[in-house]
Amino acid sequence: MDHGEIVRQAKAASVQLITFLFCDNGGIIRGKATHVSGLERKLDSGMGLTLAMQAMTDMDQLLVVEGMGPVGEVRLIPDTGTFTHLPYAPKRALMLCDLITVSRQPWDACPRSFLKRTLARAESMGLTIQAAMEPEWYLATKAGEKFTPIDTSLDNASIGATFAQDVVDDVVAALQTQGLRVQQYYPELGHGQHELSIEHDGALRAADNHLIYRETVRNVAWRHGMYASFAPKPFPEQAGNGLHVHLSAWDASGETNLFYDSSDPHNLSPMAYHFIGGIMEHLPALVALTCPSMNSYRRLSPGSWSTAFTCWGPDNREAALRIPSLFWGSEMASTNLEFRPSDSSSNPYISLGGLIAAGLDGIERELRPRREQWIDVDPVRLTAEELESRGIVRLPQSLPEAIAALEGDPLLLDAMGPALSNSYLAIRRADWELFSQRDVEFELRHHFYKF
Ligand code: GLU
Ligand code: MG
Repeated sequence: MDHGEIVRQAKAASVQLITFLFCDNGGIIRGKATHVSGLERKLDSGMGLTLAMQAMTDMDQLLVVEGMGPVGEVRLIPDTGTFTHLPYAPKRALMLCDLITVSRQPWDACPRSFLKRTLARAESMGLTIQAAMEPEWYLATKAGEKFTPIDTSLDNASIGATFAQDVVDDVVAALQTQGLRVQQYYPELGHGQHELSIEHDGALRAADNHLIYRETVRNVAWRHGMYASFAPKPFPEQAGNGLHVHLSAWDASGETNLFYDSSDPHNLSPMAYHFIGGIMEHLPALVALTCPSMNSYRRLSPGSWSTAFTCWGPDNREAALRIPSLFWGSEMASTNLEFRPSDSSSNPYISLGGLIAAGLDGIERELRPRREQWIDVDPVRLTAEELESRGIVRLPQSLPEAIAALEGDPLLLDAMGPALSNSYLAIRRADWELFSQRDVEFELRHHFYKF
């Protein structure tokens, strides 16, 4: 959008502050706001940001990372197409930003630029990647330091919808007003847990949308006197919060879903199988990008539908990669892959960038997923011998295991580049060092409403 037009829109809506937002290596959404009087200038010059931000942990500890100390700046440069007037804070607007060096180049440690680079590679291969993020979250109240779910409702139960109706209706209205297309809603399994999904979009827009979504749910809940939690496992005794990622690859015109092939028993094209092959090949390392927090590993466990094993399968909600059945009348359009070991403590640009880089590697190398890892039962029903003979193993069971897998995956490290991968790994290691010294209560408290 033209800069003058943005300023006109902001003024017409009586907006005072416009926040330039980004998501850091720790999955935290951060930003700085300009007053509307300085907006035009800031649209051109960006807002200054210390390089140290990408070396800052979720607890605001500054780590020692090469090139990310107190000296030096990048610019938060907004993508003007993301200008969003905030229905829950009518005097405010936001824009999502790239981190650009003072010499006007994308900064190597910018997560959004990593996703853009990866999508440009996909485009050079003739592919337009579509993605949808499927978020789950809890609504809770807080007394002292203790959070409690707002009700004791059941999975898909209308009673849960009743209790949360006012806040959920406001969330839906706010999302729609901001241009996110709400797809479906239901009260989830956990007490006070909800799932409200957004239609798929181009992968960059899907990542931007997920940040707008997290902001919206947290803010609307807050205005209703509640806390929204996107933490992977805010209540150890309740279901986890997933952020399942749905992916498909379309042709350059965006008209044909290249993952669909009606002649295949599972309606998947050879390209889709190669993409799956790439994801399965890089699976343990990808988990470090998609389940990056200490709290993530409380969620990833067998028997909780959050997935725990390296397998793929048809509508299998205990498989790392679910191949969803198609919808009548929209078979081609509904063909997609669902990656399930993923949660909202991830940075959506980094997780989508990693997943797509892995899939493209599969296409380039014509990888095929292992047939023995295709299962149509809950993996916990297979014996240890059966799992072993099929090559099915547990996903990383702790943050250090995931970190080690990422450290051992040159393709993903190369795709991220050294500045992003080194700072990202430093943050993840520091997370482990800090939280592994503390008790569960400390971990839950410090993850509850950060994401
Ligand atoms: N809450 C589950 C998870 O942690 C997912 C439940 C579902 O299949 O929607 O991913
Ligand atoms: Mg769900």
